[in-house]
Amino acid sequence: MHTPLTETLPRFQVGLPAAEPTRQDLWDTAVGLLDAVAERLRLDPGIHAILRQPERELTVAIPVVMDDGGIRVFTGHRVQHSSARGPCKGGIRYHPDVTLNEVKGLAAMMTWKCAVVGIPYGGAKGGVACDPAEFSQNELARLTRRYTAMIMPILGPRRDIPAPDVNTNPQIMAWIADTASMLEGAAMPEIVTGKPLNVGGSKGRKEATGRGVAIVTAELLKRHSRRLDETTVAVQGYGNVGEAAAAILHDMGCRIVAVSDVSGGLCNPHGLDLADINRHVAAHPKRLLAGYQAAGVERLSNQELLECQADVLIPAALEHQIRQDNADRIRARFIVEGANGPTTQEADAILEERGVIVAPDILANAGGVAVSYLEWVQDLQSFFWEEAEVNRQLTAIMQHSFREVWDFSQTQGVSLRLGASMLAVDKVAETIQARGIWP
Ligand code: NAD
Repeated sequence: MHTPLTETLPRFQVGLPAAEPTRQDLWDTAVGLLDAVAERLRLDPGIHAILRQPERELTVAIPVVMDDGGIRVFTGHRVQHSSARGPCKGGIRYHPDVTLNEVKGLAAMMTWKCAVVGIPYGGAKGGVACDPAEFSQNELARLTRRYTAMIMPILGPRRDIPAPDVNTNPQIMAWIADTASMLEGAAMPEIVTGKPLNVGGSKGRKEATGRGVAIVTAELLKRHSRRLDETTVAVQGYGNVGEAAAAILHDMGCRIVAVSDVSGGLCNPHGLDLADINRHVAAHPKRLLAGYQAAGVERLSNQELLECQADVLIPAALEHQIRQDNADRIRARFIVEGANGPTTQEADAILEERGVIVAPDILANAGGVAVSYLEWVQDLQSFFWEEAEVNRQLTAIMQHSFREVWDFSQTQGVSLRLGASMLAVDKVAETIQARGIWP
């Protein structure tokens, strides 16, 4: 069945008021974490120096003919942090705040994420500084195709494989696959993941990141002898990751007491009716929570959501939402990072001191890249699996990775973030050492 284009439109919400400005640079955060890990691991200084810089950074100027006939030029980036463990892998973000340093930080995070869940990829990331809420579908397609063409020299199924991230979606991945195939003169669906099913996508990919977040939440609660049906959850960001995580945790028995998006949040201590909320979002012209009303539901700001009464807090919007200035007001006992880099280094130290347990992004939101890997494998073999099989493999990957990080962190007496990062950096370093430095 053909999927109507409107069903695959991204939730372009960036024209709306943003959260407080990011004070810390994501690349600084990534380097700071790497330095701390290197010290703990007594990492070889040469390997440390290699990992302190991305392997390759490409910045492109993307001219787009707009519908009114005028030309606008957008800046895009693709950064490959490390290809030591395999082809580089990472999403593409469309957002006005995209900078080279943000993309570099996210690329490094992808290197650690792929290593921590044991999939044979390195790390990359892409981004275009733009506000897609301003674009028509045709403008968006032209921007995507031109950006793809301009970064094509460094892409490829064995080089670098993009995927969706903030404000990009299966339709955009389909345009990337088509552009690459046209330029190559041959079908090349395996150059990008997160595609629609009829362009070589995988069943289960859409919900994969949220499902992974839910699996990690369940494992974390189990280790603390907590029952899912006695657990309350608040989710910041009701997009691809947040919506699926909320739905799957609800199905597992948790009570979802608060959700939010860029327009603000909703809260009901007795539990939100997610099906009703989803109907509202689907009917909203910008696919927002704004304007939703129901008995017992109160509006709250994104700041209030972070500080609301819930056992588990899932930040699933953008980076640096939990900072030095609000970390001591977070009331949740557990934080499961659906977003990339939602917690600053300073906030992390405050949370650790307060005994808040954080399941770090490179573990908690790795479900997306895990199923991207499964999609790539299916594309390469041109043989596709049922959703139950994809979910079975995803669950096995996430549970195994969680166990590895948990056991390692317990043995070392370190936080899950430090434990996950130490495991990841160690795996990448071992591979670099085994491969040697060419020539
Ligand atoms: P998305 O664009 O689908 O959703 C983002 C959500 O966050 C939207 O509901 C948006 O309204 C909300 N939001 C945006 N700005 C906000 C703000 N200032 N305050 C509160 N809410 C705000 O994006 P996504 O794909 O769900 O990605 C969310 C996060 O998860 C990002 O950090 C992304 O890097 C990370 N992530 C995504 C994937 C994936 O597979 N999509 C995988 C791993 C990690």
